[in-house]
Order: sequence, then structure tokens, then C-alpha cells
Amino acid sequence: MTELVFRDNSYVRSCTARVIAADARGIRLDRTVFYPTGGGQPGDTGVLLLASGETVAIADTVKGEGADEVIHVPAPGAALPDPGAEVTAEIDWERRHRLMRMHTCLHLLCASVPGAVTGGQVSDGRGRLDFNVPGASLDREAIAARLNALIASGHAVMPRWIGDDELAARPELVRTMSVKPPSGAGRVRLIEIAGPDGAIDLQPCGGTHVRNTAEIGPVEIGKIESKGRQNRRIMLKLFA
Ligand SMILES: [Zn+2]
Repeated sequence: MTELVFRDNSYVRSCTARVIAADARGIRLDRTVFYPTGGGQPGDTGVLLLASGETVAIADTVKGEGADEVIHVPAPGAALPDPGAEVTAEIDWERRHRLMRMHTCLHLLCASVPGAVTGGQVSDGRGRLDFNVPGASLDREAIAARLNALIASGHAVMPRWIGDDELAARPELVRTMSVKPPSGAGRVRLIEIAGPDGAIDLQPCGGTHVRNTAEIGPVEIGKIESKGRQNRRIMLKLFA
């Protein structure tokens, strides 16, 4: 089990850690700032800095089989550190911050469009959500205006944990049918985007987010595609 530093604070760019294991699959650490692919968000890239001054480039991060297990996938040809070695794990922060901005933006998109979310994906500078809505009922300009107004209003984004029982009693909290939130030990992590009259968006999520919606900056809606009779895909792009 790995201590997930990003879960409590997504702004931590590096941490010291000890190597638990390193093999052909990848490197496991006792703690990490690297987010593993999941919930529609790609895994982090970055480097492990060794005491010798050498660096191990990390090309991807994925989940292992165990709970909270994180596998740091080295770039092809990278030398593996020895188990027990102390390293500094450092993510590519510029990329991660863009992923955090887009991920948080998808929560706001979720709140801007009525209808169930059937899937979604964050990538570097771009993102998309699929909504189960009938017909050609989505107005691109109106959604873009609503979304950018929510971003510019500077709403706080906060994680909090609730009990499994409370979540089971409030099924409406789970907006995304395809994403299973992190749970265990009887609790589930929620992300709340606070508004003046209660939450703008509140749903289980294990990803990394910015602290305030203003940090997302202006976004553009690329296009709205039909993916089946009831399914509409909305594509987003960060302006910068
Ligand atoms: Zn999220």
C-alpha cells in the first residue's frame, strides 16, 4: 500500500520516498505524488531522482492490483533503482496542472448540462464528457457561456469524505455511471464545488482538482458529436 500524497493535496509536486520494489512492470514506492490513471484522468509523468544524482524518467503511472497500489512505469531503457533506495519523486507539474484544470472543468460541465453522464476523458489541454440526452437539445453557445461564467466566478473546490451508508442513501450523488469512486474503510471521497446557494457540483471522485474554478481559465467547446441516438459527446479545450 502506497501513501497517496496527491489525494490530500494535489499541489504537492515532489516528495521523498523509499523504493519497495522495482521490476519489469514498474516501480513501487512507499509514498508518491504520482497520480495513477483512473476516473478518466491520465497517469502522471515525471522523474525519480536517486541519491547518486541519476534520474529515472517515468513515462506513465498506473494502478496496481492492491488497494492504493501505484506503479511508476519507467521510460524504455531506464535503469531501475534498487529496492530500499531513497528517491525524490517529482511529477511534470506543468502537465499535471493542465490535467487538474481540465478535470475540474469537467465537473462544471457536468453541472451545466442536464442529463446523466455516461463517460468522460481528460487529456492534456482537452477533455470530453458524454451525456445521455435525447435529440439535438444541446445549445453549444449557451453551454459555453454558462460554463465560462461558472469558471470566472471563482468557486472553491473542496474534497471531503462521507460514509458508505450516506452515499448509498443518496444515489443522486453519483453522476458518472462509468466511474467508480475511491472507497474503502467505509468511506468515499467526494469533490464539492461550492456555490452561493449550496453545491454547484458534488460527486464522488478520486482525481486531482484545482482549488478554485478561476484557476481553470477560459475554455472553448470544440464540438458536440452524436454518439448514438441518446448520446451526445461534448469536447472541451483550454485556451492556454
Ligand atoms: Zn473529479
